Amino acid sequence: MRKTVEVPPEELQKSLEASASLMKELEGRGFQYYIESYGCQMNDHDAEKLSGMLQTCGFSPAPSKEEATLLLFNTCCVREHAEKRVFGNIGALKKRKENEPGLLIGVCGCMMQQREVAERLFKRFPFVDLVFGTHELHHFPLLLSRTLAGERVFSVRESDGEIVEGLPVVRGGSFSTFVTIMYGCNNFCSYCIVPYVRGRERSRAPENIVAEVRSLAERGFREITLLGQNVNSYAYADDGVDFPELLRRVSTVEGIERIRFMTSHPKDLSPRLIEAMATLPKVCNHIHLPVQSGSNRILSEMNRRYTREKYLGLVEDIRAAVDGVELTTDIIVGFPGETEEDFEETLALVRQVGFSAAYTFMYSPRLGTRAAEMENQVPEEVKKDRLLRLNACSAEQLKVGNQKYIGQEGTVLVEGCDRREKAPMAYGKLTNFKMVYFPGDAGLIGSMRHVRITGIQNNSLIGEPVE
Ligand code: SF4
Repeated sequence: MRKTVEVPPEELQKSLEASASLMKELEGRGFQYYIESYGCQMNDHDAEKLSGMLQTCGFSPAPSKEEATLLLFNTCCVREHAEKRVFGNIGALKKRKENEPGLLIGVCGCMMQQREVAERLFKRFPFVDLVFGTHELHHFPLLLSRTLAGERVFSVRESDGEIVEGLPVVRGGSFSTFVTIMYGCNNFCSYCIVPYVRGRERSRAPENIVAEVRSLAERGFREITLLGQNVNSYAYADDGVDFPELLRRVSTVEGIERIRFMTSHPKDLSPRLIEAMATLPKVCNHIHLPVQSGSNRILSEMNRRYTREKYLGLVEDIRAAVDGVELTTDIIVGFPGETEEDFEETLALVRQVGFSAAYTFMYSPRLGTRAAEMENQVPEEVKKDRLLRLNACSAEQLKVGNQKYIGQEGTVLVEGCDRREKAPMAYGKLTNFKMVYFPGDAGLIGSMRHVRITGIQNNSLIGEPVE
């Protein structure tokens, strides 16, 4: 396994100081920033770090995009039509930049780590002031200070990536948050761009993770989600800590009541992880386990390195060991060469497992991946039809699965309040990720509430408070 490379704290400090001192010189210009972030939780968490660095440097958040003097687009290249959307949104700023020459526009994130796309964007939109890739995140203040000094900056660096500790973070919530435990991915699923834009797998030191969780607990956070592209292959070389051991260590942090994690690759899911889920009370009884396809032929073309049988075996083992567990998944339809028979196998698997949520996608080619070069691409209308049928099938399974909750009791961590109903409805999740709505107001947000399930509405459960 590769040794982790950590960025020296002095380098980070230098970067932050450079921008902070420049900000002092520019005081009075009233810089306010707005970050538009696309994509997954990893990207959202990067946006929290960008916010942290900006606030350390003296920027404050703008109340709206229109009032911002720095606009930052944190891009993603995983989702469909991402490039078109980002290019469209940036192109639309041309007029505004003409009217507000002091406006700074920056673009970063996964899409900008694809050098060809980044160069194209930088050339097409000369009014963009700053472009940088994912490996330059911690250099952002330094790059920004050059931009503030009037330079047009392009910084995309090839690298396996480093681990940066100690970046300031402005967290979106106050009781539930994300903690990144590893970066990058080694799996090279044939449709996925992540290994090319996020580098190879590298795990943070367990003591740094535990220290971060402890400081979050001290600030009142009760639920954390450990994040990584494939948390099951978390491994810290220096002292042989693997993911189940990390869960055990994080579990010892007082004040943290719920521990979630994502994403798990089925090929790396070990019996030790199932045991950790079954025996560590704070580890939630929910697992997001992307299956992607129910056909062995397609799984092999996707380079997923497990079979349908192996996946179903894991589901059986997890259900046998972990009380009340729920599974969620990701599925791609219309992968190159997928036949009607392959797709039927996916439908059959969905019926057999009964996921509590399936995040479904139509395959779309990603520049630079192996699947994008495959000749037998599936026509759009076939993909659309399969997506509709798959969604109908998973909605049916969900309806059936939800029935068993009626009459049961559980504890909800309240996330928000919906005022569209006649009386306000509080909502939040059970430990197994099922969403429950029950009568309650915004004062309950952040608290744990015991509820009895009385009904079902759309994909969620309806409950009533139990004293
Ligand atoms: S496991 Fe596969 S799908 Fe997930 S990030 Fe890695 S390459 Fe992409």
